[in-house]
Amino acid sequence: AVISPNAPTAELQALDAAHHLHPFTHGAGLRDKGARVITRAEGVWLTDSEGERILDAMAGLWCVNVGYGRKELAAAAARQMEELPYYNTFFQTTHVPAIQLAAKLAELAPGDLNHVFFASSGSEANDTNIRLVRTYWAEKGEPQRDVIIGRWNGYHGSSVGSGSLGGMKGMHAQGGMPIPGIHHIDQPDWWSEGGDMSPEDFGLARARALEAAIERIGPDRVGAFIAEPVQGAGGVIVAPETYWPEVQRIVDKYGILLIADEVICGFGRTGNWFGSQTLGVSPHIMTVAKGLSSGYQPIGGSIVNDEVAAVISGTEFNHGYTYSGHPVACAVALENLRILEEEGVVDRVREETGPYLKARFEELADHPLVGEAKIVGMMGSIALTPDKATRAPFAADAGTAGYICRERCFANNLVMRHVGDRMIVSPPLVISKEEIDTLIERARRSLDEAH
Ligand code: PLP
Repeated sequence: AVISPNAPTAELQALDAAHHLHPFTHGAGLRDKGARVITRAEGVWLTDSEGERILDAMAGLWCVNVGYGRKELAAAAARQMEELPYYNTFFQTTHVPAIQLAAKLAELAPGDLNHVFFASSGSEANDTNIRLVRTYWAEKGEPQRDVIIGRWNGYHGSSVGSGSLGGMKGMHAQGGMPIPGIHHIDQPDWWSEGGDMSPEDFGLARARALEAAIERIGPDRVGAFIAEPVQGAGGVIVAPETYWPEVQRIVDKYGILLIADEVICGFGRTGNWFGSQTLGVSPHIMTVAKGLSSGYQPIGGSIVNDEVAAVISGTEFNHGYTYSGHPVACAVALENLRILEEEGVVDRVREETGPYLKARFEELADHPLVGEAKIVGMMGSIALTPDKATRAPFAADAGTAGYICRERCFANNLVMRHVGDRMIVSPPLVISKEEIDTLIERARRSLDEAH
């Protein structure tokens, strides 16, 4: 028997606790408390099994860019399922949704980023990137260029490969990561790690850590550098303005590939189609997922430039997933891109609702608990501190203040996430000004209660 969706919440929670292992969750802790059961969603609003309406200021996991309940996306999925629910793009076959989506992405992506290798998630796409980079250099006669440099506190996924590219030490500790050939440099988090340096000097110093790492490892050994234009899961870390131009200089100087992980930053989140455009960087490879389908279907991909594609095409690339270019996922992604484009969602984030959210969000910096409030487009974070002048962290148990604030937000029917002592917002890009006001009002109330 399958439990009724209308069963009492406590029964649903008990069955959940008995059989469902949750990602990134302390199992026993959740079992005591019970997971909140989300049953429906519309626009930026979730509804739970008790009928409470919750403002989702995280767009799920940074992905529901067009908001919930878009019937066009459901219709696109149904149409495609009836016509061709599955076929693969292996062994000399293709299909229309994959053709259309690849061509559309080539049109939207900047410069000569014209070729897409599909996956079902950001993790899979970044695993693809490891193999793309190594195959690229091997094909160019430099197989020893197998080292990829990532950043501490960067996030690139949860598989062993993508988790290795990421610099989450807690993840590395569970399960043999990083794999060989992946190195990490320090992140450009001025608030937490900048000490007495100006943000500008600190940004330069952290970019030059890349050059130092290349020199240490050997310029002929390093194949690529991977980074998120704005670090997301690490706490929405916005690098000082000096950082990215210097990284670009170094990447160009040593001729290594730059992989921009656009899984969060892509598809309007920063006010342009891609975060690389907002920050003025020119990657050779971009990782995409999340906002590509607004989370309505699992899909990701690696978008590579003409030169990388030409080199990879010189051999058989022995890599692929059963669901690479899944027709239903491609059809939904295509429809999602149509909505983003035709409704002018990205332009509105850049010119109207983004600046409004920024102004309102930065008001939170006057709260006694809040040090800095930083936001780019529609991804932002506030740093909690007991001492704004010294930027000190809360002592003892790092993460406690953030956790308490997150719990207060949740009780006030607002989903914000915490990473350590940072509180994050990343709402659906279609959020209205009135809903932004509600978001800020609930966030402030939650901070007051946590104070
Ligand atoms: N890269 C970035 C920047 C991400 O934020 C994430 C997920 O949060 C991933 C990759 C992994 O994507 P997925 O969870 O779809 O595997």
